[in-house]
Amino acid sequence: MATILEKTVMPGSEPGKPADLQDNNPYAIVSGLLKEAVAGLGLDENVYRLLEKPIRTLEVAVPVRMDDGQIVNFTGYRAQHFDILGPTKGGIRFHPDVNLDEVKALSMWMTLKSAILGLPFGGAKGGVIVDPGQLSERELEELSRTYIRALMPIIGPEKDIPAPDVNTNPQIMGWMLDEYDKFRGFNAPGFITGKPLIVGGSRGRVEATGRGVVMTIVEAAKRLGLELNGATAAIQGFGNVGSMTARFLHEQGVKIVAITDARGGIYARDGLDIPALLEYARSHKLVSTYEGYESISNEAFFSMPVDILIPAALENQITGQTAPLIKARIVAEAANGPTTPAGDKILAQKGIFVIPDILCNSGGVTVSYFEWVQNTMGYYWKEREVNEKLQEKMECAFHDVYEMMKEKQTDMRKAAYLAGVGHLAEALQARGWVKGWSMPIERKV
Ligand code: GLU
Repeated sequence: MATILEKTVMPGSEPGKPADLQDNNPYAIVSGLLKEAVAGLGLDENVYRLLEKPIRTLEVAVPVRMDDGQIVNFTGYRAQHFDILGPTKGGIRFHPDVNLDEVKALSMWMTLKSAILGLPFGGAKGGVIVDPGQLSERELEELSRTYIRALMPIIGPEKDIPAPDVNTNPQIMGWMLDEYDKFRGFNAPGFITGKPLIVGGSRGRVEATGRGVVMTIVEAAKRLGLELNGATAAIQGFGNVGSMTARFLHEQGVKIVAITDARGGIYARDGLDIPALLEYARSHKLVSTYEGYESISNEAFFSMPVDILIPAALENQITGQTAPLIKARIVAEAANGPTTPAGDKILAQKGIFVIPDILCNSGGVTVSYFEWVQNTMGYYWKEREVNEKLQEKMECAFHDVYEMMKEKQTDMRKAAYLAGVGHLAEALQARGWVKGWSMPIERKV
């Protein structure tokens, strides 16, 4: 198998491109891991052929009339990866670095997350190439509405269900819902998740990804014999996921000694004041400008002698360059795709316990699923009920991946891919595409 892997040109990789750039292409990364998982489960390579590319991708023009009267024509994408388990599902990001390969990779990760968690969804992801910080509120609203209009033919509560992702939030989901309903001619709250409560959002959705991250850290700590009360952590990123992770880790008694954001980082040996930083970030959107703490560089951040390191920003942060600096016992991937294959190899050599992204940050899509279920029923749960259901799902998914790791004597990332691909293979078998195959472990999800 290894020889075949080496000779195969992965989708997304360009033969002429230097190896380190190819190494950082998320589409090539996820494709390589999928191929390995298909082989690791003894499945036919045909299964890889079904999974290697999204079933549908769309590129759209998103023209916006700016406040000064000029029209700027932004570019947007939506990739829908695989829909054998249900409608496709995944967030929308607004970021200057969005590109088609990234969106495709993110859609594939969404398929795997849903599969690992046993949700009746496939994966999707969308994005617009834009720096939303440069837009006025009116421009941002117009961008959000125009983008959703452009996706109208391919989205809907039974087709493809968007949600928030990097730089998008409940307000933006509310605008998108309004635009969708305007065109459909009726109220269809299950078309989008992560929306404000008043228009059908779920209690606990805003907190869900961070809450889920911390639930997986608790599970990992139990198995590693790490006492969380008094343990130390460092978090890269203080957006929705980073800040909520900080909040719930703080509640567990974890001392968060370092946080970085897009502009810089802050450090305090005895732990940062998390409630004060959460309050500050609400109005300032950043924490690196908070006064009174030592500032730290990105390099110093990765070198922190902490128990838990949490990348909660963008892709390709733990690389061949930064992984050698890491001293943590646990790396909890709150972001999607934060580790490159070169970085991953180093983490494995160092014996660091990685909670892979497709398990670690899957609390968001899980509560999105609960939101969609509530919209379908028209009956809404209390926050306690949402959180209990999330807890059960995260524990079961962690159990499955951990058992798969032991069964296959591999690492947690490969085990997560094995669990996810195995789940998809069961569905393929039920539909007649795969024969004579059975899951190597008994799963709980
Ligand atoms: N954007 C989140 C993710 O990457 C949530 C997606 C969703 O809720 O559909 O998992």
